[in-house]
Amino acid sequence: MNEPARAMRKPDWMRKKISLVQTSAIRKGLRKKGLHTVCESARCPNIGECFGRKRATLMILGDVCTRNCGFCNIDGGRPGRTDPNEPENVARMVKELGLTHAVITSVTRDDLPDGGAEHFARTVRAVRKSNPATAIELLIPDFGGDSSALETVFREKPDILNHNIETVPSLYSTVRPQADFERSLELLRMAASFNLTAKSGIMTGFGETEREFLETMERLHESGVKIVTVGQYLQPSKRHLPVVKYFPADWFEEIAQKIRAIGIPKVFAGPFVRSSYMADKVAAL
Ligand code: SF4
Repeated sequence: MNEPARAMRKPDWMRKKISLVQTSAIRKGLRKKGLHTVCESARCPNIGECFGRKRATLMILGDVCTRNCGFCNIDGGRPGRTDPNEPENVARMVKELGLTHAVITSVTRDDLPDGGAEHFARTVRAVRKSNPATAIELLIPDFGGDSSALETVFREKPDILNHNIETVPSLYSTVRPQADFERSLELLRMAASFNLTAKSGIMTGFGETEREFLETMERLHESGVKIVTVGQYLQPSKRHLPVVKYFPADWFEEIAQKIRAIGIPKVFAGPFVRSSYMADKVAAL
């Protein structure tokens, strides 16, 4: 099934209207603090809904990524200077939004000696200091597999440690050419060995077979992953990878049951499910 990919027309049920009115209040608060969100940078289809619920996934270490994944809308290139006030500004934004569960992610910063690990750690400490009751979920890059950078992050004991596997191993060379499936699995294994709740996310629609999809879920289970999100890949623009297949809502229900049967207890799957979508509710499943 991994033949050359051909773009498919998006079915009507995969079209979602975004209300810009709902997003403006949050955008103002973010711009004032010089903060970024993956919601905006990745052109997430859920932005109207999430911003309307006063939910946002804050993205630290700037908005320029040193990698160039085929599915991702975040700009690639040479990032600018890291804002030293970002951890405190993230903490302020978490408070302003009244988040009981904050999801914090970043671009990949292969240009920094520690990949931005200490900046992550400082951000967790700042958020905890001013929002002691808020659960913190970190959605981290792979830090190039640098175990000392990972330890820097893991020592802060985030309530959930999320790292997306994104696709099946056979498609890494086209979907995540600068990443490595085994390196990502090792990261999740290491998180579990630190007694962190390990979470991962995967997209469907790149041309993977169901068999290799479920084998990937088995590998996640063996690595100690306790929470998995599954969503449909949507092509952000014509220069991104095409969608090979759109899956209907009932397929996601069935696949969620199969993943639970493998042994991963918390599974959230649906066409519009994203790694940080309803993260508070997913944690409480
Ligand atoms: S699903 Fe996640 S990335 Fe998308 S808008 Fe919601 S919080 Fe942001």
